Amino acid sequence: MNLCKLTLYSFRNYREFSQEFVPGVNLIVGDNAQGKTNLLEAITYLSTGKSFRTRKEQELIRFGDDFCDLQAEIALPDREQTIRAVMFQGRRPRQLYIGGVKQKNAAGLQGLMPTVLFCPEDLLILKTGAAGRRRLMDNALCQLRPAYDKALTEYGKLLEHKSRILRDHREFPSLLEPLPEFNEQMARCGAVIISSRAKYLRELQKHANRYHTEFSGGREELSIEYQTVSSVEDPFASKEEIYRRLREHQESHYRAELESGQCLSGPHKDDFNACLGGLSIKNYGSQGQTRTAAISLKLAEREIFRLDTGNEPILLLDDVLSELDAGRQNFVLNQIRSGQVFITCCEKDRLTDLGQVITIENGEVL
Ligand code: ATP
Ligand code: MG
Repeated sequence: MNLCKLTLYSFRNYREFSQEFVPGVNLIVGDNAQGKTNLLEAITYLSTGKSFRTRKEQELIRFGDDFCDLQAEIALPDREQTIRAVMFQGRRPRQLYIGGVKQKNAAGLQGLMPTVLFCPEDLLILKTGAAGRRRLMDNALCQLRPAYDKALTEYGKLLEHKSRILRDHREFPSLLEPLPEFNEQMARCGAVIISSRAKYLRELQKHANRYHTEFSGGREELSIEYQTVSSVEDPFASKEEIYRRLREHQESHYRAELESGQCLSGPHKDDFNACLGGLSIKNYGSQGQTRTAAISLKLAEREIFRLDTGNEPILLLDDVLSELDAGRQNFVLNQIRSGQVFITCCEKDRLTDLGQVITIENGEVL
């Protein structure tokens, strides 16, 4: 699968944009703030139905315009397809089309144009807060498993409601009445989330370790340990069993939640710990080790997509290469010989012989 052509109208700083791409490496070159990341954002939006930068769709519409229109023409192994999204100012809901057919929701996008995004923040993902590591799991699983996407969205809404109940119940005690129902539903969704994350991390470890071992010349073993709700001793158990364990945890934390006014129990606090030779990267990893392990995770993410969907995902490298030393750059470049890749960077320097160069200035192709 590859993206043959992208057409944008009033998206971010693009007034009108239309560009064809090659199946290999597309190098997006331009100075700061010219629209390189915006372009990758448009591609991921058509891939997932979501922006990786914002939850507010209005932000995607060019300042002063009423709507934006994005269209991708993609080549699947057996046919061509179009994906189109139109977003409006105000309350009018966005419209999604696949092959010209209007979609009720983003579910139809699943697996059509999978993408793996790699940006400089990801290089520190094993050092910084748990939210980034949860996002890594969620981004991949939402694209791979529709049931996960559904459970995660539902869980997010329930968590928001429950947090409000816990915050305000002293002032309005009647708020506590629906709490048991919320807990019940959160445990149901939570079991789906935990079960999927455990399986995903097992795969991620397998592939990431292979890349890491290769890069470190066989010196270092990368392992990943899933950290979830303490009462869930076996995250590979059946969802029914995980559900029961989550209910136990909720019950044992009932008082503490009311007193603290915070939701203490559930997979919204999940994390994973990556270790090299048994030592946690968070605490002991050197800069180089942390970066290499992060690269291995990203390459593993792409590999899992490929195996799972039979479809090579588009790799989007936003400014990452400039953050890497020559050895790591070469490692990444050697690993991405296959499939379609978009690389953004400020200088053309030595990368230009990789593939098609597209120079962007102020939302236009030069
Ligand atoms: P850098 O190299 O610094 O990462 P970039 O080329 O990736 O730069 P982008 O993040 O794509 O730059 O953003 C380019 C510009 O788009 C920014 O200056 C921003 O102000 C502008 N921009 C963002 N949203 C909108 C919008 N809705 N309407 C018009 N312009 C916008
Ligand atoms: Mg950028």
